[in-house]
Amino acid sequence: MKKIFFFFLMIASLTCWAQTQVVAHRGYWKAPGSAQNSRRSLVKADSIHCWGTEFDVWMSRDGVLFVNHDEDINGVEIQKSKSRDVRSQRLPNGEVIPTLEQLLQVAQGTTLQLVCELKPHDDKQQEAIAVKKILKLFKKYGLENRVTYITFSYPGTKMLIQQAPKGTEVYYLNGELSPRDLKGIGAAGPDYHYSVFMQHPEWIDQCRELALKTNAWTVNEVKDMQWCIDNGIDYITTNEPEQLQQLLK
Ligand code: MG
Repeated sequence: MKKIFFFFLMIASLTCWAQTQVVAHRGYWKAPGSAQNSRRSLVKADSIHCWGTEFDVWMSRDGVLFVNHDEDINGVEIQKSKSRDVRSQRLPNGEVIPTLEQLLQVAQGTTLQLVCELKPHDDKQQEAIAVKKILKLFKKYGLENRVTYITFSYPGTKMLIQQAPKGTEVYYLNGELSPRDLKGIGAAGPDYHYSVFMQHPEWIDQCRELALKTNAWTVNEVKDMQWCIDNGIDYITTNEPEQLQQLLK
């Protein structure tokens, strides 16, 4: 009887240790026919059962949210342009650039967690409007429970924390704030370049003590993935999701 009890105790303690989750960076864009931040990259991330997929959001001058990493697409700078000049732009895989609304429509057909990065805009009023519009769109498509927000923008981080539904996780990307600072502003934790965690391995323990989560990017080498796994990083954002999945098996 005693043996059975300890067996169950062991299983229970093992299941308490949450496994590192895989986030496809800009979608699974290395898959055939895919491209960074494309609709297909989201579908492909879902097809290999990633926990989540990350994508980047900019707002045009006239208030339309587009998904793209760089501030420009084919030389058209999104935050300074009218949406009609952005809409026709194509990604390297031939897809037309997705609006955030179009990407969320695709996301509805998946089970992915959506790691939505707000890009820092030059005009902070424009950024504030972008925050409101992003929150509204996730609500419209019933995806508020499946989104995590990330941003390099400190004011953006604070706005997202204040305005997103209670319990929504907001992570800060910029690497300079300690776990205590992040806890102080109500962030869910650091989403930092993995080298920051390597320089401050004590931050990982501090995050655990403060009930913060840790997310490392962009981890593409096996040795770095293994370091993150061994050190208990909660989420790894990678361009090589299948390789990371193999490692986690
Ligand atoms: Mg990003």
